[in-house]
Amino acid sequence: MIRARPGGLLRRLLLFILLFSLCFTVLASSVQLYIEYRREMRDIDSRMELIRAGYLASLERSLWDLNQEQLNVQLRGLVDFSDVARVHLTSADFDLVQGNPAPAGPLRIERFALDYQPPSGPLRNLGELEVSTDLGAVYQRLYATGLTSLLWMAVFLCGLAVALSGLFYRLVTRHLKVMAEFARRIAAGEWQEPLHLDKRRGSDEIDTVAHALDDMRRAILRDIERRETDRLALQDNRDELLKMVERRTASLMRAKDEAEAANLAKSRFLATMSHELRTPLNGILGMAELLRGARLDAQDGKRLDALHKAGEGLLTILNEVLYFAKLEEGVSHPEPVDFSLRQLLDEVLTLLEPRALNNDTILSCRVDQRIAEHHHGAEQFLRQVLSNLLANAIKFTEGGEVSVEVALLSETGEQLGQRLRVCVTDDGIGIAPQMQEKIFERFTQASEEVAQRFGGTGLGLAICKHLVEQMGGCIGVDSEEGRGSCFWFELSLQPASGVAEAPPVRAAGPALNILVVEDVALNREVVKGLLQRDGHRVWLAEEADQALQHCAAQVFDLILLDVHLPGISGVELCRQIRHSDGANRHTRIFALTASVQPALVRGYLEAGMDGVLAKPLKLENLRQVLEGHVPVAESLLSDEAMDWPLLQTHRSLLGAQKVQGLLAVLRDSILQHRDALNEAMAADDCTEVAQLAHRLAGSCDSLGFRGLASTLRALETLALANDESAIRRMSLTLDEQLQHSLDTLKGLLQS
Ligand code: ADP
Repeated sequence: MIRARPGGLLRRLLLFILLFSLCFTVLASSVQLYIEYRREMRDIDSRMELIRAGYLASLERSLWDLNQEQLNVQLRGLVDFSDVARVHLTSADFDLVQGNPAPAGPLRIERFALDYQPPSGPLRNLGELEVSTDLGAVYQRLYATGLTSLLWMAVFLCGLAVALSGLFYRLVTRHLKVMAEFARRIAAGEWQEPLHLDKRRGSDEIDTVAHALDDMRRAILRDIERRETDRLALQDNRDELLKMVERRTASLMRAKDEAEAANLAKSRFLATMSHELRTPLNGILGMAELLRGARLDAQDGKRLDALHKAGEGLLTILNEVLYFAKLEEGVSHPEPVDFSLRQLLDEVLTLLEPRALNNDTILSCRVDQRIAEHHHGAEQFLRQVLSNLLANAIKFTEGGEVSVEVALLSETGEQLGQRLRVCVTDDGIGIAPQMQEKIFERFTQASEEVAQRFGGTGLGLAICKHLVEQMGGCIGVDSEEGRGSCFWFELSLQPASGVAEAPPVRAAGPALNILVVEDVALNREVVKGLLQRDGHRVWLAEEADQALQHCAAQVFDLILLDVHLPGISGVELCRQIRHSDGANRHTRIFALTASVQPALVRGYLEAGMDGVLAKPLKLENLRQVLEGHVPVAESLLSDEAMDWPLLQTHRSLLGAQKVQGLLAVLRDSILQHRDALNEAMAADDCTEVAQLAHRLAGSCDSLGFRGLASTLRALETLALANDESAIRRMSLTLDEQLQHSLDTLKGLLQS
């Protein structure tokens, strides 16, 4: 910043005025002196003229008369004239001098001829008069005059300068100072104080500048205020955006958790369904097996074989699906045992030999000599992987060769075991290069054609990959289309521990006497099989009369009653048992039914049943009943906000434990969504409200929380219509519904 020297402008102005005045004064003085000089000269001229006109005649007369005395008087008279320094008269008779005989200064000398006209005769020259005027005196005067005028001028000019300075300061400089100070304040950020000049008179240029400056200040102030408003708005927006991002992130996290939970639920569902399907399928296969012993004609025998084969195929698929689902769910953990790899290979190859023979394929096996006799590891997993790879090799090779080769990669020490590479090589159809990576993904097959020709689920290799990775190894394939494949895996096996594995012991309750009343033979057999598997003694009855006979002859610990019996229904039969005098009057009776609508269930309970077991029967549920964990009757009552039958159906399909798990997930989800919803509603973030409401409504619906679900759907509709005020009005109802649902969940989870 350039800082002005204080008073710089004023000094320059003064200097300029003084210089100008000096020049002017000098000029004016010169002119004045010149005029004075001319006047002096004129005075001298007029004096000379006076001498010529007034004195010359008398001097000529006195000279004619030779009157010296008179001449002296007259000459003295001339010397008295001002500035006349000397008078000198020369004639033939006289040489008279009056005044200073040798004047010092510059002289102006005037000479007059003295002529006389006698009355008769010609004009005669008598002499000459010389008058010397002292110019020094004149110059002296002129000098004094010039000096005086100069002095006066100087005094005047100084006064003028002082006056002008004062005036300039008053009118300009001090205001400029105030304005400069004002500008500095503005630069320092003090925009509030207006510019105030100490002025009384009307407006001038200074006021114009001052107004312009103050206008500038106001403009800056307005600009700053506008920027501040903009900044605040921006900050608000940014905060809002940040919050929105946070909400979205939380929402995404929830969605991710939900997706993971859904994936897990899907695996569980898959596992449950395959399990559920497997049980009756086993029943069907068992029955088919029994029928094989019966006397059938050739046609029926073939049909039975086809039935058995199809059943077995279905069972294999189900087993794979179930196995994979369980793997995904993480239920299956490798159980390390001591085993012999050679023996394992032997067993697997022996099992697959018939298939290979069917395909005209030769099986061979080579194991590196250095490989230990025994190892410690997940034998089951290894068996599964080897079986899958070998089964595939045999399946995709017709009239060829399949070999298993086990090579030692490295000896990791006696303590650490061995690292092995197992290769299952075939010279079958091979796999296209682009499919070699993909076939390890679940449900993936090399081509549509292969799938149609060879069948399969596309799960075998996915299972192998999963198992090998669980064992800490890696798996891959080298293959050439049409020439064969080599499936390999590498893993490390621990040395055998030498400790014999104890067979797993199943914890089971005491053996019970159980009567099963069921008219469908297959179901009867299945229930019987399940119960006997747990060591219980089972009596079977097809209809009510048979059941009553059993009851008369025997005391049971538990009676399982199919509700839909021919003739007397299960409900009626229960009533009869309860009202009889027999020993089974107080025996626990459970309905075995697929009809779990609340009204019907209430009917079963009123008839004296202790609970309901949903069909198809699950061993898990059965065990719970036997252990005294009865499905809660209260949960079967219906109300407005809850779809209890739906929940009950879930229970019977998925099992109480899984439903409890799902209810806990729903509780957590409601708690999370409640906070997120409140936040989004407070922020009028309709998009978020709609999303959250939609998602939570879906979960609530699936578990029968229909009251909350319908409130959430209404909220979603309002949010999609951007009706913020209606959303706010709804918040109280929503809160109540959420709380009510949480209370219900708490009760359910505690039971
Ligand atoms: P699946 O055999 O039930 O179809 P897999 O996961 O075991 O399922 O195999 C996936 C696919 O990989 C098979 O459908 C087949 O196309 C291909 N494949 C597996 N093993 C071989 C093999 N030894 N030779 C050729 N193709 C194979």
